[in-house]
Amino acid sequence: MLENTNTQNTGKRLMSWKSILGLGLALFIAGGLMVLAQPAAAQTAVSGLTQEDIDSLLYMREEEKLAHDVYVTLYDLWGAPIFNNIASSEQNHTEMVLALLNQYGLADPAAGNAVGVFVNADLQALYDDLVSQGSQSYEAALLVGGLIEEVDIADLRAELATTNVAAIEQVYQSLLSASGNHLNGFANSYESATGNAYTAQLLSDADVAAILSGGNGSGNGNSQGARGGGNNGQGQGGNQGNGGNGRNSQGNGGRR
Ligand code: ZN
Ligand code: ZN
Repeated sequence: MLENTNTQNTGKRLMSWKSILGLGLALFIAGGLMVLAQPAAAQTAVSGLTQEDIDSLLYMREEEKLAHDVYVTLYDLWGAPIFNNIASSEQNHTEMVLALLNQYGLADPAAGNAVGVFVNADLQALYDDLVSQGSQSYEAALLVGGLIEEVDIADLRAELATTNVAAIEQVYQSLLSASGNHLNGFANSYESATGNAYTAQLLSDADVAAILSGGNGSGNGNSQGARGGGNNGQGQGGNQGNGGNGRNSQGNGGRR
């Protein structure tokens, strides 16, 4: 009796597996047809990235270049080490995005472009505006630094929310974490130079307060990012401005 039941059950199971297989096969074929029917714009054959991912990488390549170019220019104007230190970090960032462009076979929008030259018209206008602001005074230049980092944090968060590509997420998390450190550095130098607290320029007050208090406000659970481990060590907002003159201080804000 038991055997009989088992046989019947096995038979039933086989039957249902056959139906499931049949259904699965039908779904597989239908799915394949749907993928084939998708518009070419959604996926590119070359990179396998969505158009959104591609636009994001092209933008971030130039946004990190913008940060670098502004800081290099402000360093020439004011000679404060913080601009030089963070500029070299931004050079690493723009090269990390370039590596992704190369990995996915995408043309580099910044190829051959000198400091202060951008393909993206919005970034070109932003660069011109920020350099103009930062030329007013050393204190204004520090605020420009803070604003760039706030913009970077906001953009990276938005881009992270739209991509599902692990390689991109890793790099963006790393850049996000560094931007929090840089914001800390500019805020500390600003406070040393002026005696006034740095206040949020783009993000919310609470957001900036969380980032400046060394909390994890700039990230979402992974403040170290992909490559952020061992070599920053300065991210906790330790004020290195040694009191008096922020311009000559070591406030480098967590360079990587
Ligand atoms: Zn950066
Ligand atoms: Zn930065």
